[in-house]
Formats: sequence, structure tokens, C-alpha cells
Amino acid sequence: MKEKNKKLFLLLGINIILLLINIIFISDIPLSASCATQFAEVTPAESENQIKKKIALTFDDGPHEKYTPMLLDGLKERNVSASFFLMGKNAEKYPEIVERMKEEGHVVGNHSYSHVQLNSMKEVEACKEMTKANEVIRKITGETPNYVRPPFGAWSNNLDCITNMIVVLWDVDTLVTRV
Ligand SMILES: [Zn+2]
Repeated sequence: MKEKNKKLFLLLGINIILLLINIIFISDIPLSASCATQFAEVTPAESENQIKKKIALTFDDGPHEKYTPMLLDGLKERNVSASFFLMGKNAEKYPEIVERMKEEGHVVGNHSYSHVQLNSMKEVEACKEMTKANEVIRKITGETPNYVRPPFGAWSNNLDCITNMIVVLWDVDTLVTRV
């Protein structure tokens, strides 16, 4: 009996030690390290896929009196945010639509004042186009746009007047894409 008891105590002792080791491993650094390793193996691949699958909906040339409110209704219904690259002169005509874009969480960007081809103009004139559109939008939304989409994708790196703006081009154009 004595020998059996000894064995039982020994086994019990070993179990308690193993339990303690488990608790330490589960609650302390080793687990977080192993989790971190697991995440490190999974996350980059996942985030890479996520980046590949991301799209941005962008709409140029507006706002249009009739179609832009319809578009905004559709986006709202679907809880989708988009980016609008506005012509300054259209924004001037329909400031309430521009306000709505801002209020509903869309990005409001610059698409020049009158839809000109910026890289075929004198730099000073091109700058006027861009700064005028920025000013119109700023007056309506209270913010100077951070993004610019040059009409026709025609950009010139010499436009020093707006070097702080981010140029946004496109991958798919609905005008030339037929599904
Ligand atoms: Zn355009």
C-alpha cells in the first residue's frame, strides 16, 4: 500500500507540475508567441488577397443635376462610399449636391474647373484650372480636396502648384468597357 500511495502521490505531483506548465504556457508569452507566429503565417497572405480584391468606385465630371442625386440614393441604399471627381464649374452650379456627397461620407476630389487637358496647357493656366476647382470645392465642403483626377488622365508632373495633391487615375473605364 505504501508503495502504491507513493506512486499515486508521484503521479499526482507530476500532473500538478504539468498543469502548472500548461497554465504558464497558455496564459503567458509562449502562447502569444505561437499565436503571433500563426498570424504571421496567415495574415500576409490574407491581407495580400484583400488588397487585390479591393476596388474603389469613382465618378467623374459631376455633379449632374438629375443623375448624381439618383446615384447618391443608390449608394446610400447599399451603404457604399465612392469618390467623386468634380468639375469646378459643375460644383458651382449644384453646391447642395456637393454638400450631400460630403455629408454622406464620399470623397470629393478635383477634376479641374472646366475639364481641360492639363498637360497641353501652359503651366500657369493649368494651375489656375486646378486651384479654381479646389477653391470652389473648399467653399462648399470646408475642405480643400486631397485628390485630383486629371481629365483624360493627362497629367503633368510640372504642376508645382498642387504637388501636395494625390493623383488618382483608373484601371477600368466604363466608357470603353462592355461586359
Ligand atoms: Zn472627365
